[in-house]
Amino acid sequence: CAIDPRATVSDTCASYSTIDDLNAAISPSLQSLTQTTDFFSYYRLNLYNRTCQFWSDASGMCGNIACAVETLDNEDDIPEIWRAEELGKVEGPKAGHPGKKLQQERGDERPLLGELGENVGESCVVEYDDECDERDYCVPDDQGSSGKGDYVSLLNNPERFTGYDGPSSRQVWQSIYRENCFSKAQPAESGHPGTSSTPNPLGQQAAIDLLSVMKEHGRQQALAKGGKVQPGDESLEFDDGCLEKRVFYRVISGMHASISTHLCWDYLNQSTGNWGPNLQCYEDRLYKHPERISNLYFNYAVVLRAVAKLKDHLKSYTFCSGDPLQDRVTKQKANDLARKAAASPRIFDESLMFQDSSVEGLKEDFRNRFRNVSRLMDCVGCDKCRLWGKLQTTGYGAALKVLFEFHESDQANSLPLRRTELVALVNTLGRISHSLTASRNFRVMLEAKNNGT
Ligand code: FAD
Repeated sequence: CAIDPRATVSDTCASYSTIDDLNAAISPSLQSLTQTTDFFSYYRLNLYNRTCQFWSDASGMCGNIACAVETLDNEDDIPEIWRAEELGKVEGPKAGHPGKKLQQERGDERPLLGELGENVGESCVVEYDDECDERDYCVPDDQGSSGKGDYVSLLNNPERFTGYDGPSSRQVWQSIYRENCFSKAQPAESGHPGTSSTPNPLGQQAAIDLLSVMKEHGRQQALAKGGKVQPGDESLEFDDGCLEKRVFYRVISGMHASISTHLCWDYLNQSTGNWGPNLQCYEDRLYKHPERISNLYFNYAVVLRAVAKLKDHLKSYTFCSGDPLQDRVTKQKANDLARKAAASPRIFDESLMFQDSSVEGLKEDFRNRFRNVSRLMDCVGCDKCRLWGKLQTTGYGAALKVLFEFHESDQANSLPLRRTELVALVNTLGRISHSLTASRNFRVMLEAKNNGT
């Protein structure tokens, strides 16, 4: 099952070792941005107030202490950037980036790099994260809720082993993979996922039939490659001729692989009470399934490309923390990351997707299905898992929006992302980047184990 570092990661034009090298070069900027700035290390989401739309399963709630999330309940602990609207501070045009508008009025060709505040006439604006946009690949997390969400420090709630498993987590994963059952006859409707609980018997049956065919196909392929089919393996590990559907599956599987890598990397040894890497966990969940590792690398290529596309827009983005020095530092770090991402070789080419006239309507179907995946996050019965699941689906949704709904040359438009989407996008890249590093370390540990050293 070993990964050959020289092999190309399919659907990209880079090898595993090229992506590892890129990750090594970019991860210091990424870590600095996600771990040392308030803007990117705090997150606002609706963690508790949204019920699962698809089934009710109170027994699926995880009661482990490791599943709990430490929220910021005291307003003084919430960085100003996140509480501005609660304080009713300043209200301006939504994400209109007045600085940029002003520059245009003044006839400036380029925004003033690294400068904020009075120099460019920018003011802090309130951004309503629940405003919906038809280009969204995710359901805005605050949509339809009365409150303005929960505030969390991502650093104080690390993604790691929680002990959440059993029928509840399996049901969520199965429903997520079922969204992959594209069929011309059954396009996903907005708000009506093809999950087992959808009140649409025809759609459900079609999905189940397709699921069986795909599972059998996956099994045959695995056997043909001399691989082992795991008992009870419900995943849809198949090659589909259509790039778009394959990309959908790979994004989900890569996200699943990243979550698995983190829980194996930061695992609780229940007999000693110590946290640390669990090699057997990695072997079982990833190493024996090289296609999952490939999907993880694929996701790095996809999300990195989205961040690269934001390079010019981030130059004029307003980071309003209430502290001009912190804003300047955040802006420099964000621009540094985007510049490095844009300077790296282009390893994923989104322009190849949704081109063929025979796949008309597929993009909307793709978008609706991804929205359904984001809705399914409300069914995750472990608070910590739900937090990171929501953040990452929002991050992938933001990446897909940037890739498929936004052209770099379109400078007239402001950044197409809400603040939570931007934070989620960068942190999702941070998660994949950390997974690549952990996965590489695990492979070194395995080699040492197999060589008896
Ligand atoms: P699961 O990981 O539950 O997988 C179910 C089935 O999916 C497998 O049998 C296999 O057939 C298939 N599969 C597995 N991986 C892949 C892949 N990469 N690609 C394609 N198919 C695959 N647990 C934690 O400890 N910490 C967390 O932070 C955490 N976050 C979670 C977030 C979400 C959104 C969900 C739904 C669950 C989360 N969990 C987390 C639970 C965790 O993902 C597993 O579900 C749990 O550990 C049980 O694992 P399992 O061995 O039954 O297989």
